[in-house]
Amino acid sequence: MSSLAAELEAAAQIGADGGGVSRFAWSPELAQANEWLIRRLEELSLEAELDPAGNVFGRWAVGEGSAVLVGSHLDTVPRGGRYDGALGVLAALATVRVLRAEGVEPKRPLWVVSFNDEEGSRFQTGMLGSRAFCGEVDLEDWRRRGVADAMARAGVDFDQLTSARAVDGVGAYLELHIEQGPVLEQSGEDLGIVTAITGLLGFRVKLLGAANHAGTTPMDGRRDALAGASRIVLELREEARAREDMTANVGIVSVEPGGFNVIPGLAEFTIDVRSPTAEGFERAEAFVRETVKRVAAEEGLGMEMSATHRKPPVALDQGLQDALVGAAEAEGASYRLMPSGAGHDAMVLAHHVPAAMLFVPSRGGISHSPDEYTPPEQCELGARVLARAVRGLVG
Ligand SMILES: [Zn+2]
Repeated sequence: MSSLAAELEAAAQIGADGGGVSRFAWSPELAQANEWLIRRLEELSLEAELDPAGNVFGRWAVGEGSAVLVGSHLDTVPRGGRYDGALGVLAALATVRVLRAEGVEPKRPLWVVSFNDEEGSRFQTGMLGSRAFCGEVDLEDWRRRGVADAMARAGVDFDQLTSARAVDGVGAYLELHIEQGPVLEQSGEDLGIVTAITGLLGFRVKLLGAANHAGTTPMDGRRDALAGASRIVLELREEARAREDMTANVGIVSVEPGGFNVIPGLAEFTIDVRSPTAEGFERAEAFVRETVKRVAAEEGLGMEMSATHRKPPVALDQGLQDALVGAAEAEGASYRLMPSGAGHDAMVLAHHVPAAMLFVPSRGGISHSPDEYTPPEQCELGARVLARAVRGLVG
């Protein structure tokens, strides 16, 4: 077994949970994984540090100028897979190992990172670690969500989160990750070189109708909140199917009063829409607002809508994309240029420094599941391309 495969296997034992892995921010399981990583970093003679936001760094303090930062995250969703995040951290370790073995003396510093709380599983505070690293702290929001209490129980100081900002020392960020979708497997290509990270928009919608008797109220006069919600769900699906640059999902629906023989007087639901282009993002946002308003009016329903989050798409750095293309070609790997449909730490970093991402295929397009799988040879190829690109950046 290669050292990358062996380390993926070893990491998956920490927080092992029903065939998957559960490691959340400031939990004993993630702390154990961080300690394990710090030992691996020290074996490679890197300066290991757990920063005030719970990010783990391994610094090869060499050369001059800004650092090349390489990594991903070790936290997971509940009962997540063993590749999401961990692959990128361990491939960064493998990169250092390769450079050391080749006797490369970097001309600029090279840092390995495992960002804390990328998934936001515990407090819905996704990308907290990379945001703190980039100085994007929201202490009030994080305290309200329970982060301060959890940090206190873990013996770390919440107020120190503001001192985790260190992005200014970084000149480039590279992240290898599993695709978490079916595109590469279906196309048969080895790698995805990410052009942009999709914009994320979330809404919470309430439709207010009239609860009444299901048998005696004429069909024509009903103000059925669920019927209105259903029309919106289907219109969103039609729009997203007709466009290449939009996805739409309604993942939570609740109905009141919730009687077998009672017309739904209230329907409350979420909307998740995404688009990788600025133009598509704005069009998707306008479509959601217009559709909810129009359907509510046509159905005679009251309407309340609020945005839960709004993160515009981020284009990744062209120069770093070119470096990854060059490295893929040199390794004989086939690749496609593609957007990422999921959020990643790279999307936080990309607002501050040139950033790029490399994808390897996900079997069956499955992720956030114990069934997540990428064959070892595809993980290895991704890691080799990453190492080659990094060698070019530090050499
Ligand atoms: Zn991830």
